[in-house]
Amino acid sequence: MSSLSLRALSKSYGPVQAVRGVDLDVNEGEFLSLLGPSGCGKTTTLQMVAGFVPPTTGSIVVDGQDLTSIAPEKRDMGVVFQSYALFPHMNVAQNIGFGLEMRRVERGELKRRVEEALAMVRLAGLEGRYPSELSGGQRQRVAIARALAIRPRVLLLDEPMSNLDAKLRGEMHVELRSLQRRLGITAILVTHDQVEAMTMSDRIAVMTNGGIAQLGTPQEVYDRPASQFASSFLGHTNVLSGRIESRIADEATVRVGPTAFRTRVAKDQVTPDIAVFVRPERLRLGSPDQATLQGRVSTRLFLGGSWIYEIETELGMLRITQQNTGTVQAEEGETIGVSWNAEDLRVIATERSDG
Ligand code: ATP
Repeated sequence: MSSLSLRALSKSYGPVQAVRGVDLDVNEGEFLSLLGPSGCGKTTTLQMVAGFVPPTTGSIVVDGQDLTSIAPEKRDMGVVFQSYALFPHMNVAQNIGFGLEMRRVERGELKRRVEEALAMVRLAGLEGRYPSELSGGQRQRVAIARALAIRPRVLLLDEPMSNLDAKLRGEMHVELRSLQRRLGITAILVTHDQVEAMTMSDRIAVMTNGGIAQLGTPQEVYDRPASQFASSFLGHTNVLSGRIESRIADEATVRVGPTAFRTRVAKDQVTPDIAVFVRPERLRLGSPDQATLQGRVSTRLFLGGSWIYEIETELGMLRITQQNTGTVQAEEGETIGVSWNAEDLRVIATERSDG
């Protein structure tokens, strides 16, 4: 098990600052995701850790050893790319053994390690096949086995599941997560898929504009987003217009529609107008006369396990998700009540740069 520290890590391409002073500590055996939209700098960060891109400034330290100017092949990092990058002219066993050959691992040991890696990803029996004779999911598992065979200090995953269909991707999430736990290997995943980041990670670093906007467990980042960016990037969020009615220092009473709630607000929040956030699963549908608000069901979508309702209200369009309990709560076009608990309303209490 290894720990990894990035210190003031930056990368500029001419005038483009791809990564700006990233500080990050990844604990031993931790699964950490770098999550963010296209162009936020996550791949560049991973490439610097792997050693494929030299940082402009800053350092990369693994188990106390500074690797910043060490060649990629000497860093003992296992890397899995989106494209898998398997060698088409090599069979599965040769692909998996490639890194070991390069490291001049003795024949018997190499064979043993390839067999071990094949068993880990449940591909025993397919060692003679060529990549073109494998399904997408099998190719991806070969790529993971190849990365694991060298017994890397850190496993680096760059959107490795984005070429798989939704069902297979879901299965691979479970498999990869349990393999990583079992091996106790430190792993960093780059992804723009919030569900992937939430299901796989011990912690998520939400990135924007070359920096980390928020670092926390999936639940912390989802339930207590530190910025509007983090709130909207991780799952859907309803943004309501609120107004500060009264305030003493950073304690305020905020009015939203017909209700008011007490909350902490940012010190630099100077205007009374303030955005209030509430997650779709925290809103309730009910009878119009006993609800906080009334609205008209604009759209209703069935997801199997749940329903999504889009409700037109005086506060704007609200999204509500409801568990599928077997009964339909409202039809499209129907007038319905919407309620919430004050403790489920959030404002961003700490101002951060949203990039
Ligand atoms: P994606 O999800 O699309 O891969 P990303 O978050 O991984 O995006 P990066 O690939 O790290 O983003 O790119 C960050 C920024 O750096 C982008 O503005 C990109 O255009 C720029 N960039 C990346 N590589 C280079 C390069 N070799 N030369 C110039 N600019 C680059």
